[in-house]
Amino acid sequence: MSLSAWTKQVDRAAILALSGELIAIPSVSGEEAAVMAFVEEWARARGIRFEVFSRDPTRPNVVLTAGDPASGPRIAMNGHLDTVPVSDPDAWNTPPLEPVLSDDGALLFGRGSADMKSAVAVMMTIVDAFKSASLKGCLQAHIVSDEETSGAFGTLHLIDEITAGRLNRPDYVLIGEKSDLKVRNAERGIFNFEVTFHGRASHTASARATGINAIAKAAKGVLALEKDIDRFHPAVGKPVISVNTIQAGVAHNVVPGECTISVDRRLVPGETRETAMAEVLTAFEEIAATDPDFKYTITEMTENYIPANITEDSSPIVQAVQGSVRDVTGKEPEYFVAWAGATDGRFYRQAGIDTVGFGPGGQFLHGANEAVVVDQLITQAEVFTETAARLLVG
Ligand SMILES: [Zn+2]
Repeated sequence: MSLSAWTKQVDRAAILALSGELIAIPSVSGEEAAVMAFVEEWARARGIRFEVFSRDPTRPNVVLTAGDPASGPRIAMNGHLDTVPVSDPDAWNTPPLEPVLSDDGALLFGRGSADMKSAVAVMMTIVDAFKSASLKGCLQAHIVSDEETSGAFGTLHLIDEITAGRLNRPDYVLIGEKSDLKVRNAERGIFNFEVTFHGRASHTASARATGINAIAKAAKGVLALEKDIDRFHPAVGKPVISVNTIQAGVAHNVVPGECTISVDRRLVPGETRETAMAEVLTAFEEIAATDPDFKYTITEMTENYIPANITEDSSPIVQAVQGSVRDVTGKEPEYFVAWAGATDGRFYRQAGIDTVGFGPGGQFLHGANEAVVVDQLITQAEVFTETAARLLVG
């Protein structure tokens, strides 16, 4: 397939200029009103239809629309405009709120450049490009607040509005977060639990007589958990388990009676909280078989649980993105398995909406000297445009 005329019109200069305007407006999570007001004004000036959805008026979300939602498939691109704060201004080589292009033009620096104001600029310019086209269906941009914090005021609020029938339910969603131009059709889940190992406190002098050292028991448990999990999912790579905190001990001369660790387990599609916990219990039972004093209690942190989520390869949106990657880059699409953290894509998948992530590379997200890779940003614009053209034009 050859590239559509739309894709050939992607405007590098316009994307960079708009990225810069967004970077220059401070928008730390909780303070998104000014940047969202800019988006509204920008859309109004161009005659782009938009609606504002807010759980809290100080943290609005703006939905831009091209085309007619009633006339065919509905595609929504989702991006967030909130950023993390600048915690270390002295470590920056350029002012964090000033968009600065590197001398060779390869990188655009600034807080939010990579995470993810430039990708939102891509989405805005694409809706602008399609605003007068005769589309079968519609292309929207869900421009949200509150991604870096909980999502409750941002994407989750839009999902509530969709459920309530006040916002059109997309058939497909594109997420624009950093993915190094790799296809992200699945995300690992998150399952946290604590293990308390029970010993028997005693004076050090009688440690061998009456004491059972809970730290020593925990050490066995930690070593049993803290290892590579030999399992691989093609879309997200390996599951992960990591023991991340430990608490024990009351004094230098008391054998500890209790030791508690917290464990972060990242799940791949096919794994559940139950299967992950079964593996933990099997490992611990093996220890207990040779150590009758190996006693423990496990507490699952259910409030943090996120199931692994996937949009299967057979979905039209995955097919369209993969085909567009092939035609725009001349390369076979790859999956994003290197660093599969969570995005707002999970909320759409949990609502039953087919969702694919595809974004540029960048450096130092959340850190000093954050920057987006400009060529990859333009490739993202071409892939999103081509994907929309395939599903909505002709
Ligand atoms: Zn982000």
